[in-house]
Amino acid sequence: MPQVASATLFLSDLHLTPERPGAAESFRRFLDQKAIHAEALYLLGDLFEAWVGDDDLAHPFHAEIASDLKRVSQSGVPVYFLPGNRDFLVGSDLARAAGLTLLEDPTRIDLYGSATLLAHGDAWCSDDAHYQALRAQIREPAWRAEFLDKPRAERRAIAAALRERSELAKAGKRPEIMDVNPEAIAEAFRRHGVGRIIHGHTHRPAHHNHSIDGHPCERWVLPDWYDLVGGYLVCDATGCRAAVW
Ligand code: MN
Repeated sequence: MPQVASATLFLSDLHLTPERPGAAESFRRFLDQKAIHAEALYLLGDLFEAWVGDDDLAHPFHAEIASDLKRVSQSGVPVYFLPGNRDFLVGSDLARAAGLTLLEDPTRIDLYGSATLLAHGDAWCSDDAHYQALRAQIREPAWRAEFLDKPRAERRAIAAALRERSELAKAGKRPEIMDVNPEAIAEAFRRHGVGRIIHGHTHRPAHHNHSIDGHPCERWVLPDWYDLVGGYLVCDATGCRAAVW
């Protein structure tokens, strides 16, 4: 019996890197066996552990991921990419090579009749002032232009140093500081007029029920996918549910 394309899939935080080939292999099987039967596939950021510019495509590992993704869109399934904090420098060259439609963070979509807001999620971690200051700095067009002008090896070294600094800083922060801020979430529900939010980044997979001005709302937090076992969200006309791959 042919599989009917009737669901939309969401995933994030794969943090793909040549150092963890298991996750890439698992993701490849997911694309070839699952995603090609979907109605659409949404990647909500941190697909890559690091992306320092589209010349990263020169690395065979990255070129292979791009061609794996391209097979999905070529089979007729639209693939959307919303950038995370690790791969916000993804640009039009990767989009072309991988068949991706790039989305702004956040993006509001109509998901089977339900207004849904998609985001990576890091912008809502507003209690982490240090992180937000860095986030604002590296997204300045001037910073971006200057960074992309540097040789690729230097960019990778800077990115690695930033990651190391972030890991060190995280070790000294209380866990709740690194989660999304409840007020920022409530504000996002209100401002965008949605009843559902889907995001990643925190690596704290969950289904939260919120009451916003008396309206029941839901928020899905996507799992990370560091190794052979990954997770994703399936949504169709009946609603959303978490699934394991
Ligand atoms: Mn992230």
